[in-house]
Amino acid sequence: MSSPLTTGAQVARGGPCLDSGVQPHQNGGRRLRRLALASVLAGSLVLTVAATTSAYWPVGSRSSWVTQWFSRAHPAIDIAANYGTRVFPARSGTVVFAGWRSNCGGYQVWVSNGNGYYTGYYHLARVYSRRGDAVWAQHSTIGLVGRSGCASGPHTHVELWHGYPWRSGSYRINPWSWIDYGYYFPSRYQ
Ligand SMILES: [Zn+2]
Repeated sequence: MSSPLTTGAQVARGGPCLDSGVQPHQNGGRRLRRLALASVLAGSLVLTVAATTSAYWPVGSRSSWVTQWFSRAHPAIDIAANYGTRVFPARSGTVVFAGWRSNCGGYQVWVSNGNGYYTGYYHLARVYSRRGDAVWAQHSTIGLVGRSGCASGPHTHVELWHGYPWRSGSYRINPWSWIDYGYYFPSRYQ
């Protein structure tokens, strides 16, 4: 498990100025599986599943783009957008931290999404939420895209944690399947 400081060094590489490796992501298979699952399930069960699995692109611009994908060295996805673009939680939940941290992430918001999962949004220009706020995917503006902390250009570093963020025993998961959908999801990744 890497320390916050180690991660900070990695965060610093996440700016759009280093955006040379953007590749179209092959996720057609997942979308087909999702459709297959929906067709197998019937009636209210479908609604239940949708409510617990819905996840959305957390940046309020269809022209935003990924500047760095998830890897062992960078356990997050960086999404670049114009400075000041709204940031929403990928899934609805409750804010557990909102403010500045000197972990290289700058202004950041952490959201508890239930079942032990948390999402974190870093390098914000402003924080528009407080600890304890109930926030909704695609609707609640929790902050604005910025470059606070160790960021070379405006983007947000999105982490998905199992377990409370940065606590011993917690770990990060690729958030892609939590953000590859929704109103603002860029068509270039569909
Ligand atoms: Zn990053």
